[in-house]
Amino acid sequence: MNTPPPKIAPDNVRFAAILLAAIGLGVGAVVFFFNPATHAFYPVCQFHRLTGLNCPGCGMTRALYALLHGNFSAALRDNALFVMALGALGMRGAWFEWNKFYGRSSGGFFLVKFLWPLLSVALVFTILRNLPAFAFLSP
Ligand SMILES: [Zn+2]
Repeated sequence: MNTPPPKIAPDNVRFAAILLAAIGLGVGAVVFFFNPATHAFYPVCQFHRLTGLNCPGCGMTRALYALLHGNFSAALRDNALFVMALGALGMRGAWFEWNKFYGRSSGGFFLVKFLWPLLSVALVFTILRNLPAFAFLSP
């Protein structure tokens, strides 16, 4: 017997969106005012600490700091995947809202069909940034 999953009430979605936006703004404010390169209270990447290798997220906080201060090239140097993912997320959001505005269905904001391609890109990025020939991808 297959029962459909419970529907999420629109009020809960709105609350989650507001909560996520508030968290995002709070994190953005902290990163904007406290440079991750000079303040030690930021969490250390445990993967990097244990292995000495860069994970796909290494350099992300520094990239966010650089982006928030308008230094796009430094952000790309710190974590190109993060910068590209932010751009892709923004384009996806714009596409989603565009379709919603014109009453067309875009399926949903996070489509499952994008999961494996995104994970594959993150895996390739992780491998490349740890190779000496692609050291420019390391923070
Ligand atoms: Zn890391």
